[in-house]
This record gives sequence, structure tokens and C-alpha cells, in this order.
Amino acid sequence: KVDVLKKPGWLKIRLHRTPEWGEVRQIVEKHNLHTICSSGRCPNQAECWSRRTATFMILGDICTRGCRFCATKTGRPLAPDAEEPRQVAESVALMKLRYVVVTSVTRDDLPDGGAAHWAATVEAIRTQNPDAVIELLIPDLDARPDLLEVIVASKPDIIGHNIETVERLTPVVRSRAKYRTSLETLRCLNRQGVVTKSGLMVGLGESDDEVLQTLHDLRDAGVRIVTLGQYLRPTLEHYPVAAYITPEKFEWYRLRALEMGFSYCASAPLVRSSYMAEEALRSVKSL
Ligand code: SF4
Ligand code: SF4
Repeated sequence: KVDVLKKPGWLKIRLHRTPEWGEVRQIVEKHNLHTICSSGRCPNQAECWSRRTATFMILGDICTRGCRFCATKTGRPLAPDAEEPRQVAESVALMKLRYVVVTSVTRDDLPDGGAAHWAATVEAIRTQNPDAVIELLIPDLDARPDLLEVIVASKPDIIGHNIETVERLTPVVRSRAKYRTSLETLRCLNRQGVVTKSGLMVGLGESDDEVLQTLHDLRDAGVRIVTLGQYLRPTLEHYPVAAYITPEKFEWYRLRALEMGFSYCASAPLVRSSYMAEEALRSVKSL
């Protein structure tokens, strides 16, 4: 398999260490704050923290689904922590973030999928940090309009839901999630008037035509911002990498996405869905 071979040079991480990054790091260490940027060992940490952008995970670290590309633990999660919205809001204030991304595991065990907890988190962040821009990266919530409405009503600035891969590979790599459900979730969010974004990983064995079809489907569902990044297998137990996509091909996907009418597309090997999030949202509305 390809991913037991040496990774190509374009996947090497360049660290842009800036004073802002150092300052945020110190705060994180001093207060023992939990961000996905650190726990997920995200390659973009220095760049994002320098821009005062960070991602938080809510609703615990155990997912009720078990996607074959994802390193998150699977099993029976704990009840939501009622203190968590306030703790996230405090972390945002301590880190002096300008742009906050919140994400979660999928909580199929909760009757509302965690919607009320999501809304409480947005409200707590907003109360303590009135100037921060808030982006959510939510699970599909089974595309239920009533649950999505609860989250939309808390007024985040943008909501993302990742389609992750092309339709053919969805049942293979995405556990219980369905491609059409993800599209319906995004369509429903757009109907409710919120700006949406989505992302997919490439290098799982998809063809160019399948990537273009997925971009078409996302655009058709009303999505304005899209991200494409290289899939990297977290451990040898996870789904194997089928190909390392070249930077040139990523650029080709980016140009095709813009031709289709997306307002913004970030497409490069190390792009993750919250990468350049602020710039992406600025292409749609003034912040
Ligand atoms: Fe954090 Fe997302 Fe940036 Fe990675 S891309 S450092 S997870 S904000
Ligand atoms: Fe990971 Fe999300 Fe799949 Fe859960 S639903 S296993 S968090 S990708």
C-alpha cells in the first residue's frame, strides 16, 4: 500500500513560529486548555494560533460512530457536561481568540443529538466574547430540521458539515453516515438562512470525476465554502491511503470549485476544514 512508503516532501510541515503563537501556547499550557489543534496534533497550529483561531471539541471525546479514517474513540459516551459551554467560553476569552471553531463527536445516543448543548455553547461564547466570530462544524443530526433549527437559532456565524468523501466510498469509510443525509443536512441549514461550508478528504481512492461530482452536489445543496485536503491515516489500523494527491491536482480542484460558483475553496495537501476559516468566511460576508 502507498502509505507505508515515504510521504512526499509536500506533506512536510513548515512551522511559522510567531510571537502571537508563543503567547497563545503559553496561555494554553498555563490553564491546561483543551483544543483540537493540540490534541489532534494539527499541522496548522502555529499558523492558526497566530491568527487567533482555534478549534474546540464539545460533547466529550467518545463517538457513537466509528469511521475508518478517524482516530476518535468509539463507544458509549458520557452525559454532556453542563459546565462545558462556560469552560469553552472562558478558554476563548483567555486565548483572546478572534475566530472560534467548535466541533463535536456524533451523539446518536442523545435524543436531540446534542443540539441544545451546541446552542448553549454558542450562547456562552457570545456572552463572554461578543466580538469573536463563531464557526460550528456539526454532525449530520440525521438532517432533522427541528434539531438543526435549535443550533441555527443560537446564531453562529457559519455552520459546516463535512461530506468527507465521494458517494461511492461513503459506506466504506464513513460508518453509519450517509452521503445523501449529509447533503440534506447542508441543504436544510441553507434553507434556514445560515452560511454553510463543507470539506472532503482526497487520497482515499476516488476519481477526479467523483470529486467533481461531489463538489457539484455540495454547490447544489447551497454550500458556499469548500475545503479539500489529503487523507492521512492516523494509525495502521485505519483505512489505507490510496494515493498522495499532488499540489498541482489540489490547485486544479480549487479552480474547478471556483468555476462552479463556490465563494471560497481551500485546497492543498495540509488543508483541514478550519484552515483559513476567517479568510474563507470573509469571502461571503463582512466580519
Ligand atoms: Fe486548529 Fe483547525 Fe487550525 Fe488545525 S486547522 S490548528 S484544528 S483551527
Ligand atoms: Fe470521527 Fe466524526 Fe466519524 Fe465520529 S462521526 S468517527 S468523530 S469522523
